[in-house]
Amino acid sequence: MPTTNQAQPQRLAARITQLNEGFGIARALPHLQRHTIGAWCFMDHLGPADFAAGQGLHVGPHPHIGLQTFTWMMEGEITHRDSLGFVQVIRPGEVNLMTAGHGISHAEDSTSEAGGRVHAVQLWIALPDAVHDMAPAFVHHAKLPVFKHDGLDITLLVGDALGATSPVQVHSPLLAMDFISHGPTQTELPLQPDHEHGVMVLEGQADIAGETFSPGILCYLPTGLSSLSLRTTQAARWMLIGGQPVDQSPLLWWNFVARTQGEIETATQDWTAQSPRFGEVHGSPSARLKAPSMQGVRIKGDR
Ligand code: MN
Repeated sequence: MPTTNQAQPQRLAARITQLNEGFGIARALPHLQRHTIGAWCFMDHLGPADFAAGQGLHVGPHPHIGLQTFTWMMEGEITHRDSLGFVQVIRPGEVNLMTAGHGISHAEDSTSEAGGRVHAVQLWIALPDAVHDMAPAFVHHAKLPVFKHDGLDITLLVGDALGATSPVQVHSPLLAMDFISHGPTQTELPLQPDHEHGVMVLEGQADIAGETFSPGILCYLPTGLSSLSLRTTQAARWMLIGGQPVDQSPLLWWNFVARTQGEIETATQDWTAQSPRFGEVHGSPSARLKAPSMQGVRIKGDR
């Protein structure tokens, strides 16, 4: 494959959605023009937002299939509870990786009702066919590789980069990195040319491949690049994701990732019938979520 460092970044505007109680989220993936980056098939940037006392982030028990949820916490604390019995507070600098496979359910709630700040990114990773129905699992990562490079504070979240390897176990070739600049910086980051990449500025402003990006716009970079130019003039934070392009986009509906509409219909019926497939989440202060009706729904891309 011919490689180059001449990137042609594509600007993809995130959609602002409301999770609950007026809490805004920038949803960068899926995008009409870009369903996936590698196997990354969903990307939500939450906050940074300040909650008043008595408010907070509350997502009641809900199911997943066919994916891994990847939560990167930058500010605040959230308690994860799942149907395998895991209860885990996630704090800044930590990752929760939940594998849904055949089926799991979980709830996410602010740890304290005292209010405070929340800043996080949640991504979904589509599982490849061979492990789509694997047994569910949950792993908390309190320690990830953290290092300085060209004046940047870097955390390696997933994959291999700059001589480091992340302990986070995924099922396809993927990369995720967090970058913090404290002022003017410049670096040329080596890339794997068989990966496509996306960069989401989370705070401040950064020049990516020669173009200026701010929060709310995903920068997409196609395969074939051997490096990426990153520059800042001020304090900033951004996240880079990458991976080998998938052959076929997965189907996404509600909290499900699947190969066929039938798999999604079955999962919806199983959740509504309170089937043991999804187990039970204990201890969440939030109500169990209802699946939306699938009546008349034809999911685009059904194979
Ligand atoms: Mn979830």
